[in-house]
Amino acid sequence: MNETFAVIGAGPSGLAAARTLQRAGLLWTGYELAGEVGGLWDINGPRSTVYESAHLISSRTTTQFTEHPMPDGTPDYPGHRALLAYFRDFADRFALRDGYRFHSEVVKAAPSEDGWDVTVRTPSGKTTTRHAGVLLANGTLSEPNVPELPGKFDGEVIHTSAYKRAAQLAGRRVLIVGAGNSGCDIAVDAVHHAASVDISVRRGYHFVPKYLFGRPADTLNQGRPLPARIKQAIDGRVLKLFTGDPTRFGFPAPDHRIYESHPIVNSLILHHLGHGDLAVRPDVARLDGDGVVFRDGTRGAYDLVILATGYRLHYPFVDPSLLRWRGAAPDLHLNIFSDAAPGLFVLGMIEASGIGWQGRYEQAELVAAYLLARRDAPERAAAFDAAVRGPRPDLSGGYRYLGLDRMAYYVNKDAYRTAVRAATAALRGEG
Ligand SMILES: Cc1cc2nc3c(=O)[nH]c(=O)nc-3n(C[C@H](O)[C@H](O)[C@H](O)COP(=O)(O)OP(=O)(O)OC[C@H]3O[C@@H](n4cnc5c(N)ncnc54)[C@H](O)[C@@H]3O)c2cc1C
Repeated sequence: MNETFAVIGAGPSGLAAARTLQRAGLLWTGYELAGEVGGLWDINGPRSTVYESAHLISSRTTTQFTEHPMPDGTPDYPGHRALLAYFRDFADRFALRDGYRFHSEVVKAAPSEDGWDVTVRTPSGKTTTRHAGVLLANGTLSEPNVPELPGKFDGEVIHTSAYKRAAQLAGRRVLIVGAGNSGCDIAVDAVHHAASVDISVRRGYHFVPKYLFGRPADTLNQGRPLPARIKQAIDGRVLKLFTGDPTRFGFPAPDHRIYESHPIVNSLILHHLGHGDLAVRPDVARLDGDGVVFRDGTRGAYDLVILATGYRLHYPFVDPSLLRWRGAAPDLHLNIFSDAAPGLFVLGMIEASGIGWQGRYEQAELVAAYLLARRDAPERAAAFDAAVRGPRPDLSGGYRYLGLDRMAYYVNKDAYRTAVRAATAALRGEG
């Protein structure tokens, strides 16, 4: 049997997996579709969904890998080029590139008698290799979620995944559908290039500025997590003082409390709304020739509609029954372990405010601890297997998340990291 584990993807999660397997002394081979490490932060990568103006939304100290801090002098919210350089540097420091096969797309991963058969397509053909297991880190923000809009449009409709640079907006009347983090970034780009800009929203959002009290907002209150209700009350009040009421700028009132959905971290969108550089419109009712009709019956004329409607999870090379899909996401223990497929581990399938790459790294540490326990401490591994089969732990941190598809794999970062660290310690026999 091949003792080598397959790592699929060389983005932050894949690199974290490669590094933690390396640290654990376990053998691994990485497969990466692109010709470079960095995942979606490589704007030229085939599955990348960043655009020229993309910067971190979480600040660097809460995002970076603990064992590889960004150099002094790095800005609080670096852009995608600096982040790609960071991941190249991480890979070089630990010689991770040597373990990767680039331009190698995994097209199938299936359990076999004594391991997993991984089929890879390269420019020179397809090959299948048997591995001891598979760590799947192919990303969560690459497969566009494209809603069917009724009606016909004479202009162009694209998804944000096809948006790369502001020149695409130049001189055009632009409608952005959805005010998530990418939608708001692109709206801000559009203000400087488009002939006109509207943003259509279905619901209200909570807007968090990038800086509060002169510091990156996510670096405040980093100590012991406050109970959900108290944090919501305090942060809600602070936001009211800093950003005011988003309904003043034309947004609907949020139908949820802060942190019950992913907050929008953007200091500029409200600024531009306040300057009349763009306008908020209701949900789209239908496309209508050279324009769009909205739910309130009003109409706008546009040349370009950009669907900022998010992404969906996509693991096309694994039999869905092995991932226990339930609705919009696989139902996995700690969002990693499937009770239907020992030897298959999903990394990076977490959405959370502030989980950072270190949160993803800790997922990989847990997988490595489990693999070592399976080899060296079978009773601890068996106890963990029982947990994988058992009821799912509450990872909400006490927040009542909106029941939306995009929230299907959402966790509270503190609850999640505490659970993952505790499981890792138990598998290592610590404490
Ligand atoms: C605009 C934008 C801003 C963001 N800002 C933040 C932020 O501030 N903080 C934060 O923590 N996160 C942020 N994110 C989320 C981002 O997804 C993570 O930072 C991180 O990139 C996730 O890493 P990953 O390795 O799981 O996935 P990815 O970075 O998507 O990497 C997946 C890799 O797998 C490869 N791959 C895919 N399919 C295959 C296959 N079949 N075979 C082989 N290889 C394959 C891809 O080519 C890619 O290299 C942002 C995302 C976007 C789009």
